[in-house]
Amino acid sequence: MSDIIKILPPEVSNKIAAGEVVQRPASVVKELLENSIDAESTKIKLIVKDSGKTLIQVVDNGIGMTENDMKMSFMKHATSKIKDIDDIFSIKSMGFRGEALASISSISNVEMISKKKGTNKTNKILLEADKVVIEKSPFSQEGTSIKVMNLFYNVPARRNFLKSDFVELRHIIDSFNRIALSYPNIEFNLIHNDDELFYLKKNNLRKRISSIFGRKFDENLIPLNEKTSLAKISGFILKPEISKKSRVNQFLYVNNRYIKSQFLNHSINNGYDGLLRDGYYPGYFIFLDINPNKIDVNVHPNKTEIKFEDEQNLYSIINSSIKHSLGVYQITPVLDFEKEPSMELPYNSQKKFTKEPSIEVDSSFNPFEKEKNDADWEELESNIEDGIFNKINNNEEIDSPKIFQIFNKYIITTTGSSVIIVDQSLAHQRILYEHFLKSSADNSSKSQKLIFPIEIELTKNQEIVLAEITDVINSIGFKFTVNKRVVIINAIPPVTSDNPIEEIFEDLLNDDISYNIKESFSLSDLIAKKMSKSLSIRTGKPLKLKEQQTIINQLFSCKEPKLSPFNKQIFVTLDKKDLDKNFLNG
Ligand code: ADP
Ligand code: MG
Repeated sequence: MSDIIKILPPEVSNKIAAGEVVQRPASVVKELLENSIDAESTKIKLIVKDSGKTLIQVVDNGIGMTENDMKMSFMKHATSKIKDIDDIFSIKSMGFRGEALASISSISNVEMISKKKGTNKTNKILLEADKVVIEKSPFSQEGTSIKVMNLFYNVPARRNFLKSDFVELRHIIDSFNRIALSYPNIEFNLIHNDDELFYLKKNNLRKRISSIFGRKFDENLIPLNEKTSLAKISGFILKPEISKKSRVNQFLYVNNRYIKSQFLNHSINNGYDGLLRDGYYPGYFIFLDINPNKIDVNVHPNKTEIKFEDEQNLYSIINSSIKHSLGVYQITPVLDFEKEPSMELPYNSQKKFTKEPSIEVDSSFNPFEKEKNDADWEELESNIEDGIFNKINNNEEIDSPKIFQIFNKYIITTTGSSVIIVDQSLAHQRILYEHFLKSSADNSSKSQKLIFPIEIELTKNQEIVLAEITDVINSIGFKFTVNKRVVIINAIPPVTSDNPIEEIFEDLLNDDISYNIKESFSLSDLIAKKMSKSLSIRTGKPLKLKEQQTIINQLFSCKEPKLSPFNKQIFVTLDKKDLDKNFLNG
């Protein structure tokens, strides 16, 4: 038998490594931006075409490279950042594995132009398939420009796996924002298909945050500052009242590197104890400085996970510093010396923490927020399609069905010879879900005009999402105009009135909607799901008899009364015969 083990040729092993380093265009963006930061750039420009599928270019004004370094940089394990293993434990740079450029160039066409600081020579290197072309380039500014073109051109499986342009762009913006937030002293620029999405001037952190997320954030930032022997904590947390139903506004950094950590997250959430409504997540921009010897960032190829030596202490330090900052904010205006006078907005220390946004709407149909009289109920029914009081199982003999609620959670009723126990919240989700699906399918939704239109200032991210979902949310009844970055909502779906419209609308725009669009699910399905979740009555809500009846009747007029939109069982039935069995031979 001949030997069968071979060493993989570098083109193959690089492609395999690329699978770990580069999942999507956004991963290339991250690697290139980090390289520019490591190269001490003060201005970095990111230019993207077709959400990175055609072109990802990063231009920086950093230290640049010699011709030889340029050639070397594409080789595996080629790095200028560490020399031996000990360096890993005191690493200050973003990269150090020397893998990124080797991987990226194995799955794309790359052009690099660089001029080393203090020299007069600009070189250009072109890598296409197996071809490497090096040539002189006309005089240019000091620094480096890297173009990554036709990503995954030779890995069709990966290319086909990419999501829509819209989704990939969202990932790119996320990568860009994560990095831009941790380097407010660097100027960043993001241009997509000739459209300038972000121009972030060199600034302090507070201003960097508001230039990305909008002015509304600025008024809602609470500074965080704590110094202990284990870690220095700085940054900002967002006031509890602008917490979100998703984790979109959570940014955590260790030694200026964006990380994810479930347990630190838990510690932060816990710091908000009692100040958050159910199902809401706090927003934060937290920076931890920890002695690099006490952490191991080298556990994951994407380096967003991290191991700490002293987890328990870190947990309590973070937890108490959150509590402390919230406390300070609650009783005294916070002095923030970083703040510029023009941005000074006094904290309103009288404000309640968990305030429901006050929204002015005209007559209201949703019965679940406030005590309503029965007349409103009839209105509700006439406004929800399919909402007529049709009898359940008309042809069955109904022995005066009883209906009541227990635990403020279940509605119990009987039909024929069975007892039905219905989860009120899940049932209502199903009702709303089918309502919204139907209205977006046949464009049948009525709109309820607002006497006082609601204005919401959008962030760039939200603007992009809004453009994508406009048709669908129009079809379910939202009517609005967009003027520059401000949406003016003039009319809403009737079932949403009496709910905090601003919040529901922002939820539609902020949430991870863009990540959830899969081929199998349509956008209208996603929106219907989100709306049903936002608007459904909650567990713990006492319901009046008429309300209970409406839920039951509407539920059983649904196409799929058994399952919630999120595939949870809505009700259980107990058959009288089965009950009887329990008592037979006892
Ligand atoms: P790593 O960043 O882990 O060292 P990379 O493959 O990302 O590995 O980059 C390899 C090397 O190329 C870097 O160590 C650096 O010396 C050089 N390099 C990459 N990008 C730039 C840039 N924009 N400016 C200057 N040097 C760069
Ligand atoms: Mg790198």
